[in-house]
Amino acid sequence: MFPFAHIGYTFFVVELVFIFIYIFKKLSNKNLDTIHWGIRYVSLYALLIGSLGPDIIDKAISLPITGNGRYIGHSLLFDVVISIIALAVFWKNKRIWIGFIVGWQTHMILDVGGFMPWLFPFVNYDFPERTLSYLEMIQLPSVYLNEIFGVVGLLIVVVLYLRRKIPVQAMIKEDFSKHPSYFITIDKNRKNI
Ligand SMILES: [Zn+2]
Repeated sequence: MFPFAHIGYTFFVVELVFIFIYIFKKLSNKNLDTIHWGIRYVSLYALLIGSLGPDIIDKAISLPITGNGRYIGHSLLFDVVISIIALAVFWKNKRIWIGFIVGWQTHMILDVGGFMPWLFPFVNYDFPERTLSYLEMIQLPSVYLNEIFGVVGLLIVVVLYLRRKIPVQAMIKEDFSKHPSYFITIDKNRKNI
């Protein structure tokens, strides 16, 4: 799967999950504002890095070695280790570690259709060498359609953000704060959808 599919599907799925959580909460609290809905509960950039993480590791390090874009970065061991590291390093800012781990897991799930060295390095895999170039791959319907759907998913998320007028600057500031809070202060007087 290519980058836009990974990013778009990840952001869209997380957005959907938060919409469902919002609807569920709204059932018991009629006064709940729409500001309680959205990806603001996870760090956007951590989600972005996590959603591309396995490919960043493997395309950069492993592709020249194995000839395959999936190597240790796509193994269960690496998944567990990097998740524990993210949890330990960003323990005080749950928006970051939740975003990163959710992004990473979504990437692994989205890749399930193809070859995955799940049990590397405990199992010796015969890594299939890539025969098509990027230019040839992007012409396959299974690749370009996923890229198009990914872009559409991303656009939907952006439109929902713009409609809710969520201050992205406040979210980014919160991600870098030494004393982050789970909730972001939002101007109560602004008009919500
Ligand atoms: Zn991948």
